[in-house]
Amino acid sequence: MRPTVLVIEDNEQNLYLVTYLLEQAGYEVRQARTGVEGIALARQLRLALILLDIQLPGMDGYAVARELRAEPALAEVPIVAVTSYAMVGDRERALRAGCDGYLEKPIDPDTFTEAVEGYRQAGPRRAVPHQGEQS
Ligand code: MN
Repeated sequence: MRPTVLVIEDNEQNLYLVTYLLEQAGYEVRQARTGVEGIALARQLRLALILLDIQLPGMDGYAVARELRAEPALAEVPIVAVTSYAMVGDRERALRAGCDGYLEKPIDPDTFTEAVEGYRQAGPRRAVPHQGEQS
């Protein structure tokens, strides 16, 4: 069975590109366009990794990450944030919310699947306890 990646992304072009790249790399891809939809799918599926856009309508990626991290059944699933901003604060905020790493938009097709594979093999972070969002 091919490993399944859940992609939570509201931008159709990014969703299409990421899905294409992951399928080319041998992954099964499930798509969600909102955080609520993504959380529901994550609870049903056996996932290798979750790719989480931070800029989502309604519930943003930070809130989604916190909710996913509250699910014991998903403790082994790495969550990788996809951020549009080159801001260090964004990345740190994603990590604080429970993400295990981040990738930056625009997606670079030459390095994307290798980076995803790296996060998948690394698994969820263990050393750093997830801190609640304080601010
Ligand atoms: Mn977005």
